[in-house]
Amino acid sequence: MKQSQLFTKTKKESPADEISLNAELLIRAGFINKEMAGVYSYLPLGLRVLKNIENIIREEMNAIGGQEIILSSLQEKSTWEPTNQWDDSQVDVWFKTKLKNDTELGLAVTHEAAITKMMKGFINSYRDLPKFVYQFQTKFRNEVRAKSGIMRVREFVMKDLYSFCKDEEEHNAFYERSKEAYKNIFKRIGIGHLTYITFASGGMFSKFSHEFQTITGAGEDIIYVDENKGIAVNKEVYNDEVLTSLGLKKEDMVENKAVEVGNIFTLSTRFSDALGLKFKTEEGDEKSVFMGSYGIGPGRLMGTVVEVLSDSKGIIWPENIAPFKVHLLMLGGDENVKIEASKLYEELNAKNIEVLFDDRVDVNAGEKFADSDLIGIPYRIVVSKRSLADGGFEIKKRIEDTGKIVNIDELFEFLGIQK
Ligand code: ATP
Ligand code: MG
Repeated sequence: MKQSQLFTKTKKESPADEISLNAELLIRAGFINKEMAGVYSYLPLGLRVLKNIENIIREEMNAIGGQEIILSSLQEKSTWEPTNQWDDSQVDVWFKTKLKNDTELGLAVTHEAAITKMMKGFINSYRDLPKFVYQFQTKFRNEVRAKSGIMRVREFVMKDLYSFCKDEEEHNAFYERSKEAYKNIFKRIGIGHLTYITFASGGMFSKFSHEFQTITGAGEDIIYVDENKGIAVNKEVYNDEVLTSLGLKKEDMVENKAVEVGNIFTLSTRFSDALGLKFKTEEGDEKSVFMGSYGIGPGRLMGTVVEVLSDSKGIIWPENIAPFKVHLLMLGGDENVKIEASKLYEELNAKNIEVLFDDRVDVNAGEKFADSDLIGIPYRIVVSKRSLADGGFEIKKRIEDTGKIVNIDELFEFLGIQK
C-alpha cells in the first residue's frame, strides 16, 4: 500500500479527552477513530491488525474443532427470560430497543442463551455431541466506565465459542484443550510472557472460571501471581482457603494490575436446563447438554499490545499482528531514489511481503521517521540518495536504534525471503 494514497494521516496531538495510552497512540497513528466515549471505528491500518489477531484466534479455534458462524445482534426478550438475564438488575449493561409494534428487543450483550436456543434445532442425540461453535460477532454493552481506550468499549467484536458436550468428563477434556489454544493465541500475538492463567470466580456451577490476565498498569483488575508456577489468582477469590486448595503459598504471590484478555467458563446445564436443550443418551434417557463458554476480545487484545509494547516514540507491533511487515521510506525528491524505491516496492510485493510504502513527496525525512516510529511496523527500510551512494538500502528493526546499509541480497536475507 502506498502511504500517499492512505486517507488517514498521523496526528501530533490526540483528542484532549483521551486519557489512555492505547487510544492516544492508535488515534495519533491513524489506526482508530473516536466516535464518542467508549465507541471507536477501525481505520485501514487498525483493521489490518484486528484481522491479523482474528485470524490467529480463528486458526486456534479451528484446530480444536471449532465451527464458525455469526449469530444475530438483535435478540428477543424471550430468549433471555428463562435464565432471568433480561432483568436489568441481573445484567446491568443492556442496550434495549423496540420494534414498531412495541415488541422488546435487546442488542446482544453475549450469546449463551441465543445459541442454546438455536442448537435445539440441531442437537437431539448423543451422536450429535460434542459440538464446538464460535463466532466473531459484535456485542453491545452499556459499560459505566469507558476510560481505557479500546480495552473497554460499548460496542466490540468478541470471539465467543460455546461447547456442547454429553457430560462433565467430555466437557473437561475440551476445557483443557481450550486452555492450550488460548495459551497459543496469546503467545502468537506477542503477550504470552505477560499473560497468566488466573483462577477467578466461577459463578454457580463450578468452583472457578479461568481468566487470562495480562500484566499492565492499564488493567482494571488486581491479580496475585506465582511466577514460578505461572499461574495467578484474581483478587475477587483471593483468600487463604483458595490458596490452600490450589497448592499456592501467600509468600510466593505477587500483586499486579492486569487486564482480562480472555476468559473460559463452565456453564454446566444452566442454559440447557432453562431453555430445554436436551439429547437422548445411548441408553435412551433424556439429558441436558453440558455447556461451556470461551471469550476473547480481539480489540481489547490490540489495545493491550499497545499498552505493553510501545515506547516513547510510538507503537511496536509484534510481527505476527503488524499491519505491514515492512515500512519502506523514500527520502528526498531525487529521480534515482524514486526509481530504486519503487523498484524495491514492486520486488517486495512480488515476494508477497506486506509493505507500506511511504512515497509521499511533500513530507520531510524527520517527519517520515517520526511517523514510522509512531505507526510501529517491525522493519524499516530507507531509500535515500545517501543510502544508494553507500551501496543500497538502510534497514533496521523498529526496536533497534540504528540501521545498517545492505544490498538487495542482504536485504532479502534480513527479511527471511528466498531470492
Ligand atoms: P470485564 O470483567 O473486563 O468487564 P467480562 O468478564 O465482562 O470482562 P466477558 O463477558 O467474559 O468479559 O467477555 C469475554 C472477553 O471479551 C473478555 O475477556 C474481554 O477480552 C472482552 N471484553 C469484555 N468486555 C469488553 C469491553 N467492554 N470492551 C472490549 N472488550 C471486552
Ligand atoms: Mg464486563
